[in-house]
Amino acid sequence: MSEHVEFKGYALTDPKKWSDLKVTSFEPKTFTGDDVEIAITHCGVCGSDVHTLTQGWGESHLPLVVGHEIVGKVTRVGGKVAGIKVGDRVGVGAKIGSCMECRACKEGQENYCLEGISTYNSEYPDGIISQGGYATAIRAHQQFVFPIPDEIESRYAASMMCAGLTVYSPLKTYGAGPGKKVGVIGIGGLGHYALLWAKAMGAEVYAFTHDESKIADIEKMGADVIDYHKPLARKLDLIISTRDNYGKDAKGVLDQYLSMLYVHGKFISVGLPDEDSPMPPVHAMSLAMPGCLMGGSSIGNKKEALEMLELARSKGIKPWIEEMPMKDCKKAVEGVKESRVRYRYVLTQDIDN
Ligand SMILES: [Zn+2]
Ligand SMILES: [Zn+2]
Repeated sequence: MSEHVEFKGYALTDPKKWSDLKVTSFEPKTFTGDDVEIAITHCGVCGSDVHTLTQGWGESHLPLVVGHEIVGKVTRVGGKVAGIKVGDRVGVGAKIGSCMECRACKEGQENYCLEGISTYNSEYPDGIISQGGYATAIRAHQQFVFPIPDEIESRYAASMMCAGLTVYSPLKTYGAGPGKKVGVIGIGGLGHYALLWAKAMGAEVYAFTHDESKIADIEKMGADVIDYHKPLARKLDLIISTRDNYGKDAKGVLDQYLSMLYVHGKFISVGLPDEDSPMPPVHAMSLAMPGCLMGGSSIGNKKEALEMLELARSKGIKPWIEEMPMKDCKKAVEGVKESRVRYRYVLTQDIDN
């Protein structure tokens, strides 16, 4: 049976005007048995949206709708979909598909599949370009669709889908919990979640920021220590770094962070900088002396997403957000680029179907 369906979204059409997003119609991917179709009500604004719109990660497809912190109501499910039904409230993060056959997919690490489909700016096998959440609707594979507990409001759930999950996954994987000291570098969208989750998991949390205007907020978020200059040698079990751009004078910065780690401590980077912005060099001594490890992490899998939502539900955790109608997406993406956001923008649906 052939079908013609159009969704609408706020799309980039001219990369020279990266923040001028205009309502544009687009064709969604072909609906299959594993797909869930969602009428979008909310979408958070992620730094990835800005990197993509500004072409910092290379030339994007055009027109392009960004947004991958999506919450909405299920309007259609494929024949193979289990545990999700029409009318359910669900979320979608930064990926919407994978091969489901490789080792990573089979072991429940589907977010690391080499053939993963990103929520926007990815090409499906049928040639359709994936389009994100500043839109009326989206289709996603059921493995990338997360039911949201009734107790969590949609406006709070939205930014958990990328920002929340991206830091939940390494906190969980590397053992944040009672008796552990966790450092969080950069208290923005991701960092504020890392702080909230790590506290909820029972860890002692050290927050690092260069922005003094955030200190009162960080205290309210529950950080045990807000510090930067005091020596913290051999103190932390885990550092989550949300920093993406280290800037020009960053020599030695990573060595300083690594010196804070306790024996076998881990430094995990979750930032995703522009292509021309590598991390500063690290001296081998800085790794050897504390016997520490450096690594990275990319979003999270479905099991972790469901655990994160359960943690937020059981502990009543609410992110710090600013809501605005989707038509204000220009203001939102510019606010993220200029670090004005406190601590995540969430867009609410306003496109007439
Ligand atoms: Zn994101
Ligand atoms: Zn795979």
